[in-house]
Amino acid sequence: MSSLNLITIPNPLLRQKAVNVTVFDDKLEARVNNMFDIMIEQQGVGLAAVQVGILERIIVVRYEGSELSLINPEILNREGKTIDVEACLSVPGRQGYVVRDKCIRVKGQNFKGEPVEMEQTDFMARIVQHEMDHLDGILFIDKLEDFS
Ligand SMILES: [Zn+2]
Repeated sequence: MSSLNLITIPNPLLRQKAVNVTVFDDKLEARVNNMFDIMIEQQGVGLAAVQVGILERIIVVRYEGSELSLINPEILNREGKTIDVEACLSVPGRQGYVVRDKCIRVKGQNFKGEPVEMEQTDFMARIVQHEMDHLDGILFIDKLEDFS
């Protein structure tokens, strides 16, 4: 597979809406693996496909020993609110407080196209929400809390 490169603001791709994945083949699996490699290399905890220039609804997450890849993710249920600091590989040098749902129920597909459904809480839920925002062209800097 070709090597993918991380894109950063103000690349206009980061503001576009990604499309659903409809073909679940070896190339998709390779893209997902490539995304994991880049996320790990960049020491990130999550990555959306658009961050490597692919406008498809794919996210990967790696946090405290848990790894997750989700295709076409959708949030089914949200509970509670929590605030914490976020940063983004595509927004170098910035960080700030963002309010997120504390507990989410998410469905989607794995890279084989099989349906998956799961609950995530706290920081893991935060990462999933941050990455899912990327799929709709939304960045964490759009949602910063102003404490000044
Ligand atoms: Zn991000």
